[in-house]
Amino acid sequence: MVSVRRSEATLFTSREANGHENSTVQLIHRAGLARQFASGLYALTPTGERIRQQLIAQVTHEMDRIGGQRLSLPGLNDSDIWRQSGRWNRFEGEMFTLENRDGRQLCLAPSHEEGVVHLLRGEVRSYEDLPCLVYQVKSKHRDDHARNGLLRLKEFTMKDAYSLHASQESLEETYDAVRDAYVRLFEGLGIDFVIAEAANSVMGGAISEEFVALADTGTVEVLSCSDKDCRFGLTEESPASDCSDIDTCPECDGTLEYGAGIELGHIFQLGTRYSDSMEWSIDTADGNEREVVMGSYGIGIERLIHTLVEQQGDERGCRWPDAVAPYRAAIVPLEYDGELREVADWLYDQCGRQQTLLFDDESQRIGERFAESDLLGIPHKVVLGNHYLETGCVELESRDGHTRYVEPGEVSTHLQR
Ligand SMILES: [Zn+2]
Repeated sequence: MVSVRRSEATLFTSREANGHENSTVQLIHRAGLARQFASGLYALTPTGERIRQQLIAQVTHEMDRIGGQRLSLPGLNDSDIWRQSGRWNRFEGEMFTLENRDGRQLCLAPSHEEGVVHLLRGEVRSYEDLPCLVYQVKSKHRDDHARNGLLRLKEFTMKDAYSLHASQESLEETYDAVRDAYVRLFEGLGIDFVIAEAANSVMGGAISEEFVALADTGTVEVLSCSDKDCRFGLTEESPASDCSDIDTCPECDGTLEYGAGIELGHIFQLGTRYSDSMEWSIDTADGNEREVVMGSYGIGIERLIHTLVEQQGDERGCRWPDAVAPYRAAIVPLEYDGELREVADWLYDQCGRQQTLLFDDESQRIGERFAESDLLGIPHKVVLGNHYLETGCVELESRDGHTRYVEPGEVSTHLQR
């Protein structure tokens, strides 16, 4: 992503903080990441979209690393495949349905198990074609009860993955690989989360687990282990949730604490739930036929934005990990004038690939520049002030206040990931 001059950017930052459901929704508004369109519908601003795109890049990196093949299925589905699977009008009331001009019934697919079977059952006919892991990153539509800003949306971005197998053992192998990829992803972003066993409900199948971020504004009730390395959790959906009177972690003897959480991801061992109802069999090695075994794996991208704002933000604003920050560094001159202006412009050109935001708006004072940079959650500031004028070195200040002094020519190198 490119660097931007503030004078040319539409930032949406705001001091107004009233009228929002909670402090996280307020901060998302004040930092100018999103604006509500209608109930459950949000527009992401240029800043919010930069974050969304970088989160998608992180997610796809982890999926590609475990052999996922990215594809794209249509969001609009004919009702036929949903009738075959038995889920037409049985998606917990959350499916948006409509009719086309010819009177055919369609839906905005709330999930794509049916779509994946429909696409691949003509192509994959033998155990030799398996296993196969496919994924996409697209908008999903669900008529959910909208609340809590970006947490419960009627249209949201989801990374949904599906794996196909000739055996349960093969499914378990891929399931574990996706589970590990999710752990790497969430740990890499510094998210505080637990993994809770869950019932499969509308998806079907036997085994599933939820990745739940611990966050006060979340709508999931969660019991989490106090040992942060343990990651054991229980939610209302956990088969063992009737043991909510237990207070000791069954995995490490740590203490279980009661709190709220956000479901960031969910992984399912679906078994033959879909190949059975949609009649998809493959040839096996011994000359017989068997139904394809499936898994499905989702991550909600906007929920990740909300979670990071809540878990990592502070009284000054957002605090993004370097990997997903909308801007990696703010170039902040004491005044955008004279020598400082020249150096600021030079740094802006030098750091073009480092996604900087150059504070070149002459109407802003230095204090306002710092405050806005912190509100946006930019991880680094390149400060051009008195120290530069006296020594020729710029101040490279991280969001948590750690400062280094470097030559202007070294700034670009210091900002590289
Ligand atoms: Zn534990």
